[in-house]
Amino acid sequence: MAALRLDGRALAARYETLLAEAITAGLPRAGRPPGLAVLRVGDDPASAVYVANKEKACRRIGMASLGGHHPAATPQADLEAEIRRLNADGAVDGILVQLPLPGHLDSRALLMALDPDKDADGLHPLNLGRLVCGEPGPRSCTPAGVMALLREAGVPLRGARAVVVGRSVLVGQPMALMLQQADATVTVAHSHSRDLEALTREAEVLVVAAGRPGLIGAAHVRPGAVVVDVGIHRREGGGLCGDVRFEEVEPLARAITPVPGGVGPMTVTMLLANTVRAWARRHALPDPLAQP
Ligand code: NAP
Repeated sequence: MAALRLDGRALAARYETLLAEAITAGLPRAGRPPGLAVLRVGDDPASAVYVANKEKACRRIGMASLGGHHPAATPQADLEAEIRRLNADGAVDGILVQLPLPGHLDSRALLMALDPDKDADGLHPLNLGRLVCGEPGPRSCTPAGVMALLREAGVPLRGARAVVVGRSVLVGQPMALMLQQADATVTVAHSHSRDLEALTREAEVLVVAAGRPGLIGAAHVRPGAVVVDVGIHRREGGGLCGDVRFEEVEPLARAITPVPGGVGPMTVTMLLANTVRAWARRHALPDPLAQP
């Protein structure tokens, strides 16, 4: 039987509808829509596309897009001052600094300048700490999107063996924490792990975020596993692929995310969700995704 496809586009569209409805319902009380400020610095072409996509997503759900584009030579102090201005701006609920930044800039210092409650990407150390402690706060968007896909598909996590391949602060670490908080038993593999195949074959839920095209094949996967592919790579001949060899793994898996159309669309949606949630909290409105 073919694996269930975990369709990120469909779920992202459903979440967007819920967020748009929450904005419409909350507007009279809040007196303004939620606002997201995406700071773009310099002219990295991929960043221009990502930022345009985020701005389009804001418009789709009725959210104000308040970011700015700054020249590549902008000094660190000016960007930190801009972040402080946005922190104090009552129309802004979420702020993110689009990476990568030009070489002279210190992205960590910019992240630290953010008001943690306006941290749309959920990557401020305070928010990672809140995740460790199981306290509410903006969550890292990609792992939060993976959790939403697993929840939507009814994948049982309590007591399940989960393996996360990758331990980055952006994906692997928060992913492992979120799975653990859902009562899975989690192993984290990285580039020094011995016998990756044996480790990943133990997984009932396998999340791959290694950034290595085609790293995971049939030999790595336990039959009946749920496989989530976070990796995203441009193929030489055009198109995208992930860290998982989809054609090989799909016949074995119970459920699998495609690339594209799996985790990717959920990442942008969770960015919107973090921002709309911050807006709702500030105006004492209900959580827009409390029961998606
Ligand atoms: P990263 O910072 O490069 O981290 C990669 C992690 O994978 C590291 O922890 C590394 O181990 C581990 N790793 C690398 N090669 C490995 C191997 N052969 N075996 C086991 N582990 C290995 O990457 P990232 O930012 O987490 O992103 C991972 C992938 O997800 C990339 O393809 C990225 O483009 C994609 N991504 C997608 C989305 C989305 O929305 N779909 C969002 C974010 C990222 P060490 O720690 O030992 O170096």
